[in-house]
Amino acid sequence: MKLHRSYGSIGIPVAVLFAAALFVSPALGQTQDHDHSHEDEYPFGHEEADILEAAGGPENLEELNRRIGDQKERIEDIEGRQEQLEKDIETAKAEGATLRTHIAVLDGEIERTQLSIEKTGEEISQTDLEILKVEEEITIQESDIARSRKILGEFIRELYKSDQASTLEILLANESLSDFLDARHSTQVLEEETQLALTELNVLLEELQWQERVLETKQETLTQLKGRLDDEKAILDEEKSGKQSLLAVTEEQEANYEELLAQAQTEHRNAEAEISALESDIKKIIEQERNTNPDFNFVPGDGTLSWPINPIHGISAYFDDPDYIRFFGVPHGAIDVPTPQNTAIHAPADAYVVKYRNAGLGYSYILLSHGNGLTTLYGHVTGSYVTAGDTVKAGDVIGLTGGTPGTPGAGYRTTGPHLHFETRLNGTKVNPLNYLPSL
Ligand SMILES: [Zn+2]
Repeated sequence: MKLHRSYGSIGIPVAVLFAAALFVSPALGQTQDHDHSHEDEYPFGHEEADILEAAGGPENLEELNRRIGDQKERIEDIEGRQEQLEKDIETAKAEGATLRTHIAVLDGEIERTQLSIEKTGEEISQTDLEILKVEEEITIQESDIARSRKILGEFIRELYKSDQASTLEILLANESLSDFLDARHSTQVLEEETQLALTELNVLLEELQWQERVLETKQETLTQLKGRLDDEKAILDEEKSGKQSLLAVTEEQEANYEELLAQAQTEHRNAEAEISALESDIKKIIEQERNTNPDFNFVPGDGTLSWPINPIHGISAYFDDPDYIRFFGVPHGAIDVPTPQNTAIHAPADAYVVKYRNAGLGYSYILLSHGNGLTTLYGHVTGSYVTAGDTVKAGDVIGLTGGTPGTPGAGYRTTGPHLHFETRLNGTKVNPLNYLPSL
């Protein structure tokens, strides 16, 4: 059995390779049924052990896993607090339309944003740790591959050496021709298996690199989210200070607030009456313009709109929002889009400017007609770049948003910096969301 002994000398590196393969992929080991007897006495070469230590090794992975676990607990704790807060906000809302309720709800909303910022911060830390972990795994994987390549090299050298033995010698050493053929066959199988193990390691490496890219993308998204939340908190803080100054004005007397609400309702009714009157005249005004102005080039649109401002902070009051009626006692025929004071408003489609009402500190608005009975209105504007009779192209800046109580254009009934956006079809208020791209 001379030939088998000579192959025996390569038994050690092959076992090492499969021990390495087992270390990264237990599933791979299950398919192997050849001699593992050398694994225990020679699990890793000294050189390889040094590489592992330099990479940090499994101890470092354990530490990272522990820290990721801690992060998860922190995030769960914040989620618990968020849940409780939502209940508190609902309870405060149910108390009705008083200024104190408004401030209590706002406090809740500020805390809500604060918690979201905190949570996003923790998620960023967690993703940082996950990236570190994947990087660590990649380092280990790369040293595994380097080790396997070395072992494969040795293995092929041994095979080559054994091929130097003359066929006659081999035939003589074997008791029969079939023994000889078996030996050749098992050598081939071993070489193929070794190649397979190396391929498997490379596939795992690619998977880890892909995971790293996914995590990096997640990290970018989270950083953007954090920036957005910081803006949101600034808007809410502004809203709260607006409400607090309102509270000072009313000398903490709810009766005064009622008076303010009544003023707001009068203002609302007046604006509505004015807009209705304009609405009924729009067709006539545009026709007249077309007949008398040779430069008039307004072309009615197809009824689709783009967002006049970026709705990055979502919608704070919907069309016919029940919360709105509860607070202000009137229905909300619009959507409110929170945005910092003085954000540029873009025409959502080609339009004819029907009106810019500048009401000083009262409620100011811009009214556009897009033809075919569709109009849009921008409430609480601090200023306008357009005036009645102008035509604008989709995307043109028409004015600036407002809404902070006590600032130009805000009027009496406002909840903080936002764009109040209305759409009407043949004079009837319709839900703007039906005309806009979905959020
Ligand atoms: Zn509104």
